[in-house]
Amino acid sequence: MKYVSTRGQAPELSFEEAMLTGLARDGGLYVPAEVPVMAAEDIVALAGQSYEEVAFRVMRPFLGDTFTDDEFRDIIARAYSGFGHAARAPLVQLDQGHFLLELFHGPTLAFKDFAMQLIGQLFEAALKRSGQRVTIVGATSGDTGSAAIEAFKGLDAVDVFILFPHGRVSEVQRRQMTTPSESNVHALAIDGHFDDAQARVKDMFNDFEFRDGVRLAGVNSINWARVLAQVVYYFTSAVALGAPHRKVSFTVPTGNFGDIFAGYIAKRMGLPIDRLVVATNQNDILHRCLSAGDYTPDGVIPSISPSMDIQVSSNFERALFDAYGREGGAVAQLMDELKSGGFHVSQGALETLRAHFESGRCDEDETRATIKRLRATTGELLCPHTAVGVKVAEEHIRPDVPMITLATAHPAKFPDAVEEAAGIRPPLPPRMADLYERDERVTPVANDLAAIETLIKERLSK
Ligand SMILES: *Cc1c(COP(=O)(O)O)cnc(C)c1O
Repeated sequence: MKYVSTRGQAPELSFEEAMLTGLARDGGLYVPAEVPVMAAEDIVALAGQSYEEVAFRVMRPFLGDTFTDDEFRDIIARAYSGFGHAARAPLVQLDQGHFLLELFHGPTLAFKDFAMQLIGQLFEAALKRSGQRVTIVGATSGDTGSAAIEAFKGLDAVDVFILFPHGRVSEVQRRQMTTPSESNVHALAIDGHFDDAQARVKDMFNDFEFRDGVRLAGVNSINWARVLAQVVYYFTSAVALGAPHRKVSFTVPTGNFGDIFAGYIAKRMGLPIDRLVVATNQNDILHRCLSAGDYTPDGVIPSISPSMDIQVSSNFERALFDAYGREGGAVAQLMDELKSGGFHVSQGALETLRAHFESGRCDEDETRATIKRLRATTGELLCPHTAVGVKVAEEHIRPDVPMITLATAHPAKFPDAVEEAAGIRPPLPPRMADLYERDERVTPVANDLAAIETLIKERLSK
């Protein structure tokens, strides 16, 4: 299994190389040269299997010879052992034909644990074998960073630096990043937005001297291994509702387009997905682009669903690559145009995108109203991101096809917004109830590449 860059100018890599590299050297993102297709009888055979067993069968063809079957089974077992629910990703029914896929039972209460816990174990296994060390640098709007720190803390061969936008993450998110005491963990509060943090991380990857000097590795949602890990729960949930004998649809609260792109890969693998619905908050560039073809960022407006406050949606590049017939040159040109303001998706590419993705938007008042209404009609407390998904899903539901909305975070991760909407303050699960008492450790940094690189080199030399 080989991986190619969406911009067509970087070397082809193996799974292991693509995983350890993150961003391609031509600025592109790695995607599999070919998506393996699963036969219908193999999908049928997933019914009744554990989450871990489905994970093994779905991901195995993408790994090539990176790990033996036994090694990979061990990695998967370790990745999901810290989850607080035996099913890992349980389904809950909201209404006739509408289901919620709870992806918040991992150690940091958001779906990002599914990918990050796995990638932590994959890195550990690969680096132990080669005797190498890496420096992980990531940008976060809150949930990626806490998930990464939780997954990599205390590992021998890894230092982890996480840039989060100062003052723009929830207190629970911040504390999950600043309270781990392991010395290989470094939480950096950048003076800027998430898009600034993400841009500085990209800059570090494009500074080859720095990149090679500290052996930089990326675990942002651009890392292919993360997308792959998220493909699994599309299979477990669809099969639980009758796939492949009947089709299902998904609605996904979206920011960086990683989670929904995993659904697209599941579809390409043969899972009978009817529609993939992109749900955005008021930062609706993806909805605007899928509606009219125009991709022009116009500034982030902070919302109560901060993990979706994104205007430069990294993984969308992977969807564009396929929509443009896998022409790396065409994607590279769009990304150049983006640097000077924005781009237009060609009519043909837009039609291809629309054949797979529908979209909708949910504003702040609608988000709060949805939290309140679902509490009254189902007893469920939704986090604001999930509420965006539920609202948009309701607008796209069809009577004959079950709709699964991805519940991306636990309501207790965003207690202020949930309390304001529903009048109830969601408590943290007992296993993390002391989070508000633990000591915090954080380093403020300017939105400045040289300053950030200097800080990282200093920390590594200690
Ligand atoms: C990261 C995140 C999202 C958006 O996921 P993408 O993969 O960036 O589209 C949605 N909800 C929550 C709670 C998240 O943490």
